[in-house]
Amino acid sequence: MKPRVIHMLVISFPFWRRALIVAWLGLWLGMIAPAQAEAPTPIPGGFTLAVLPDTQIYTWKHPDTYPAQTKWIADNVQRYNIPYVLHVGDITQHNTNHQWEIAARAHALLDAKVPCAITTGNHDLGPEGKAATRETAFAKFFPLAAFQKWPTFGGIYDQEADRTDNSFHRFEAGGRKWLILALEFGPRDDVLRWANEVVARHPDRSVILVTHAYLRPDNMRFNRHAFIKVKDLKVDMGMDRYGLSKAAGGYNDGEDVWQKLVSQHANFALVVSGHVCYTGRLDSAGKHGNNVHQMVVDYQNGKDGGQGYLRLLQFHPEGRKVSVVDYSPLLDEVSDKKGTTYEFTIAPPPAAAGKP
Ligand SMILES: [Zn+2]
Repeated sequence: MKPRVIHMLVISFPFWRRALIVAWLGLWLGMIAPAQAEAPTPIPGGFTLAVLPDTQIYTWKHPDTYPAQTKWIADNVQRYNIPYVLHVGDITQHNTNHQWEIAARAHALLDAKVPCAITTGNHDLGPEGKAATRETAFAKFFPLAAFQKWPTFGGIYDQEADRTDNSFHRFEAGGRKWLILALEFGPRDDVLRWANEVVARHPDRSVILVTHAYLRPDNMRFNRHAFIKVKDLKVDMGMDRYGLSKAAGGYNDGEDVWQKLVSQHANFALVVSGHVCYTGRLDSAGKHGNNVHQMVVDYQNGKDGGQGYLRLLQFHPEGRKVSVVDYSPLLDEVSDKKGTTYEFTIAPPPAAAGKP
């Protein structure tokens, strides 16, 4: 019905009847309108990875936002063909049981629906989440047994049976085999040794790395001397300022991780990180010439800690094109932040092992 026709119908009745008709029309339109009109259109024949950026402010101040994100993902697993969820870390703000419980409850909505590769950020480590040490309640709330329920789960760092923030996962989608590595905040040297071994064992899989602090919004990888402009101030975001950087085993920043791990393997394709708002991206060639797309996404400095924006990586069925879009199920809006909607080309699948 055209608005003019509706208007003419409405004005031909007395006021109370008009009010009734307007109310009824409003109810009817509300019922037939799709609940999430602004959600990106699923790509037929493709698949989608859902990325949860830093949820730290939600577990601290807006506890309803996190489950709204995971519920939307769970409800849309089929519609978007979502084989995996990635969480970039900074799950909590203060590494407290209360905040971990909120996170665990949000992730329970994904149980039996879709697996999640999730790891720690600086705020998930040490007393009050200040990353003075690597002590964390992560494994208490995201235990090995929960990961092991998924046949896609590969294993954890081989030297620490009591931690789950270094893990790997295997799945197939879009006609190729994938390996996801989830690595702790500022991964230690020996964790990178293990990660290199895991990747070397899977030469036929395209590799995705999920780690908290890797790329900066100025499209540079983190290093020890990272000064970033935040609200007109130059702030040192380098990792040396965290207490854990002095601990045994040390740490590796984004540039180190690139040099020691990502650039070393012909089958590396994608790096997804968080930690700093809002977004950035970088394509770099590894030493075997393979292009690796690297990205950062984080909404924590936005209104209400990010208003539930999550990132959808929509892989097209032709196998190379990926559409990136950030969507908030809470607002039913696509992000208007600069650089958050774009397309990239992912490296082709690696030649199968053993082939000439
Ligand atoms: Zn962080």
